[in-house]
This record gives sequence, C-alpha cells and structure tokens, in this order.
Amino acid sequence: MNYIVCIKQVPDTMEVKVDPETKRIVREGVPSILNPYDYYAVEEALRLKERFGGTTIAISMGPPQAEAVLKEAISLGIDQGYLISDRAFAGSDTLATSYTLARAIKKIGDFSVVLCGREAMDGSTGQVGPELAEHLEIPVITYVSKIINIADNRIECVRLLEDHYETLTSFLPVVITVIKEINEPRLPSLKGMLKSKKTQIPVWTKNDIGGDELQFGQDGSPTKVVEIWRPEIKKEGKIVKGEPEELAETIYQELKKLGVA
Ligand SMILES: Cc1cc2nc3c(=O)[nH]c(=O)nc-3n(C[C@H](O)[C@H](O)[C@H](O)COP(=O)(O)OP(=O)(O)OC[C@H]3O[C@@H](n4cnc5c(N)ncnc54)[C@H](O)[C@@H]3O)c2cc1C
Repeated sequence: MNYIVCIKQVPDTMEVKVDPETKRIVREGVPSILNPYDYYAVEEALRLKERFGGTTIAISMGPPQAEAVLKEAISLGIDQGYLISDRAFAGSDTLATSYTLARAIKKIGDFSVVLCGREAMDGSTGQVGPELAEHLEIPVITYVSKIINIADNRIECVRLLEDHYETLTSFLPVVITVIKEINEPRLPSLKGMLKSKKTQIPVWTKNDIGGDELQFGQDGSPTKVVEIWRPEIKKEGKIVKGEPEELAETIYQELKKLGVA
C-alpha cells in the first residue's frame, strides 16, 4: 500500500507580498517553509504506514528550492520524495497545479491514499485536493479529523463539517485532505535527518510525467487574477471607565456619534 503526500513550500511570513504588475505572490528573497497544514498530512501518512504497512512518498510541485521541504519530509520519516519542477509549470493556478500533481501520481502508479493539507498558507483555496481527485477520477474526503480504519479496500474516516462531524467510508484509492485535529506531528529524528542528507530527490519534468501540454502552467490556468489589494485595517480603540450606568451612557453617546444608535 502506498501513501502519497502532497506538500507545498510556502513563504515564511504572514505578510504575503503581491507583485502589483503580475498579481502573483512575490517569493524571491522571502525565506520558505513547509506549509504548516502539510505537517499533519505527513504525520498521518507515517501513522498509516505504522498501522497498515506500506510505503510513504512525498511529492511537491515547485521551483528547485522546493527540494528542501521534501528533504524535511524524509527527516520526519517519509520514505521517498519527488520534486515536480519545470519552467513550463510557472504561472499554474490550482487547476494546472492539481493536473501536474495528478500526472506525477499516475507515474508513481500504485497508491491507496493521497493525503493533502486542508489548505496552503499562501493561496488558501483548499482546491488542490478536490481537483486532484477529479483528475485522478477517484473519490475525495475533505477536512478529515480521524482515520478510523482501512480494510477490505475501504477507508473509514471522520470529517468535520460546520457544526458537526460525519463518518464516511470510501473505496480506495482516495484523496483525503486533513485538518489539524487529526494528529500531533512528530519532530524529525536524528536517523531521519541523516537519511534526508543522503537521499537524492529525483526531479520530474514535464517530459517525465507526460500529459496534455495545454494543461500545464499558464496555458492550463483559467484563473486570471483581475485585482488584488490589502484590506485596510483600522485599529481604533478607546477605553472607558466608570460605573455601569455611566459606561452605558458613554457608549450610547459614542454610538450615536457614529450614527449606529
Ligand atoms: C493566475 C495564477 C497564477 C499563479 N502562478 C503561480 C506561479 O507562477 N508560481 C507559484 O508557485 N504559484 C502560482 N500560483 C499559485 C498557485 O496556483 C497555488 O499556489 C497552487 O495552485 C496551490 O493553491 P493553494 O495555495 O490555494 O493550495 P490549496 O488548495 O489551499 O492547498 C491544499 C493542499 O494541496 C497541496 N498542494 C497545494 N499546492 C501544492 C504544490 N505545489 N505541490 C504539492 N502539493 C500542493 C498541499 O497538500 C496543500 O496543503 C498562481 C495562482 C494563480 C491564480
């Protein structure tokens, strides 16, 4: 049984800068990290291997420096990593990203569960997991908080909805996206860190994964960012002190001034 985890390298900052011309995230000169949600996907893949046996594989689509997150996954215990990287993938929106990842997954071939984080910290669409399932023509279970069991070619999961949980079963293979509640990610081991230093990460280009030329990169990206701006945050606070009646009157007068009372 193979468990494939999709991991993304994201800028290590809460202040994502956007190029006003291209409307793309500025990644140059910004330190990068593994997408925080993807630690939970990596951890769950490791736990699935411990519970049910098999092999764990991490894949990432990104520029050459994204190799670092694959090495980190190996230091956490993942068996093998593949970097999916080619200039032809530049400008990919979520549809082209998921198509590219799906081609790489098809090349790996034998897999039971594809795991993704619930969303990436920079793009935050949460679309890649469900789109992957569509390209692979397999089921998807999003927001998984617990994997109960894998048996008889089926997986049983609990998923979080707005105000309740539901338990679902699906045939394998399946794509799941995981939420933080699912586990407590481990730290890298010394053995893992040594292994990650030695492990070569194969780089797969467009030619390696094959597919329809027009579905990669900008050509395969129907999303056009029309405008992008930072919301104005006004932090105006006022502390009022006094007896409850006085406070109520002061607040009432303030609200009246603002035209909301
Ligand atoms: C018009 C347009 C152009 C763009 N051009 C570029 C570009 O040139 N370069 C660029 O880096 N980004 C580009 N992006 C952003 C890119 O589309 C997204 O970063 C990417 O598709 C993932 O979407 P997301 O961040 O919303 O991920 P989400 O859907 O929120 O991620 C969910 C999960 O999917 C998996 N995942 C997501 N992305 C990857 C990945 N790359 N590799 C492995 N697993 C992944 C992870 O498990 C993640 O937790 C562009 C976006 C648009 C709209």
